[in-house]
Amino acid sequence: MIKNQKILKEMAQERISRLLGMAKARTLDKRGSDALSKRYVGIAKKIVSHYKMPKGRQMKAEVCGSCDSVLVPGINCSVRLASSYGYIVYRCRCGAEKHVMYREAASKGFGSATAFDRASKSHRD
Ligand SMILES: [Zn+2]
Repeated sequence: MIKNQKILKEMAQERISRLLGMAKARTLDKRGSDALSKRYVGIAKKIVSHYKMPKGRQMKAEVCGSCDSVLVPGINCSVRLASSYGYIVYRCRCGAEKHVMYREAASKGFGSATAFDRASKSHRD
């Protein structure tokens, strides 16, 4: 029975990461609507609550807490550095803000796939 639960949670984790990937692809595709992306995130949240799993690093870092949209810097969220406080402010289109300390952002992979990659590539060139 315990082994079955472990397999179920692994399957759930796989589904969540796949749903978040599809939601991110929808957000990056500017022709796509936000509604489908939010629907994918909603399903992922339902899976998390059904299996009583922790949200996971990817979901915490990339999803807006109030409107369920996947945060992609430059498309639906802005990134600002509050240097006097030592944290990064991710502001969603809906107005909600996510504050992440500099050190946490580096270790937890916030914004890893978009803004930071572009910045590091431009430094290399
Ligand atoms: Zn939002």
